[in-house]
Amino acid sequence: MEFVAETIADLSPSLTLSITSQAKAMREEGIDVCSFGAGEPDFDTPQHIKAAAIEALQDGQTKYTAVAGVAALRKGIAKKLREDNHINYEPEQIVVNCGAKHSCFNAILACCDAGDEVIIPSPYWTSYPEMVRAVGAEPVFVETRQENDWKMTAEEFDNAMSGSTKMVIVNSPNNPTGAVYTKEELTAIGEVAASEDILILSDEIYEKITYDDTEHHSIGSLSDEIRNLTITINGFSKAYSMTGWRLGYTAAPQEIADAIDTIQSHSTSNPTTFAQYGAIAALAGEHSEIIDMVSEYDIRRQYMLNRIQAIGNVSTIEPKGAFYFLVNIEKTGIKSVNFAEKLLSRMQVATVPGIAFGHDQSIRLSYATSLPIIKEGLDRFEEFCKAH
Ligand code: PMP
Ligand code: GLU
Repeated sequence: MEFVAETIADLSPSLTLSITSQAKAMREEGIDVCSFGAGEPDFDTPQHIKAAAIEALQDGQTKYTAVAGVAALRKGIAKKLREDNHINYEPEQIVVNCGAKHSCFNAILACCDAGDEVIIPSPYWTSYPEMVRAVGAEPVFVETRQENDWKMTAEEFDNAMSGSTKMVIVNSPNNPTGAVYTKEELTAIGEVAASEDILILSDEIYEKITYDDTEHHSIGSLSDEIRNLTITINGFSKAYSMTGWRLGYTAAPQEIADAIDTIQSHSTSNPTTFAQYGAIAALAGEHSEIIDMVSEYDIRRQYMLNRIQAIGNVSTIEPKGAFYFLVNIEKTGIKSVNFAEKLLSRMQVATVPGIAFGHDQSIRLSYATSLPIIKEGLDRFEEFCKAH
């Protein structure tokens, strides 16, 4: 007898998480690793957010809350979505989850049956296809092109649809490519989805991290018809450097929000109570820390872009958001896992192989790490690339 369920047996563990912990373990052993692995801000959580959680703990906020989160937080999120994202959601349409990863999983579980197809532009964030497979549905990939800044066009989306399509995943700003869709591009995709009543899962976790004059747009804000098909997902991990707090949220049409609430009532129950009070403070507080963090990422981004473009046998696009470079290594003739393994063992540089994102001719470099580490890591990376 097989112990593990068929739908689960073929899933792969998250490579983004395992590379990050491998690099951390090497560093603890005293090995001088330069890690471009982590998709995790290297800044601390702002003090006023920590203080609010500590105060909540001391005030006895140590019990269960409503499954979907405390009323003040859901209200704060509805206000944020109205003001920042121009989407009107009632607080009842919002469910606070244990991280945006959990939000994505809940949304897929709530909406997709076995046999449904979910369209995913590729390269994609590593967890989407596995979440889709875990519920017995099927990922359908749309291969995007570096020449088009790795963005899926409305036409490519339309061509990938079948009678079984239930959902499309949109992730802008994008992990791993750094691409940010324009309002026009999102409108075109939204209109195609609306013409066939396809649900849109819009993962906006990197919303606050955009560069130059690039603007983030929420697809759900573009028309009522599109909003009625959209599950907007966001969270606190990236913008407020709160990865370990595990707080994300879904904002969705009421029947989907109710289904997510039901799932959560039988799985995790509410997200950690005192953490929710930190999140209330994050939304209500000053956002100057976010601006400081983004300017720091921007300095690293510009430095890395110049260095990577000067190497010769690798290429990349200029990322407009998030904190990643997807570097095309096709000309080296080495596949991504082999490339990343050799780079780690010979040069002590940790990266994530592109295969984790559905693109075996690339590797991902995160710049959520300090400039001195980036400089040293790129010296080693350049030496490695030039030798191939
Ligand atoms: N979506 C994307 C695109 C991500 O890169 C991440 C990174 N962790 C998540 C969702 C999940 O974030 P969280 O830490 O809030 O679960
Ligand atoms: N999302 C981050 C990354 O892509 C963190 C790891 C994870 O959640 O998979 O590296």
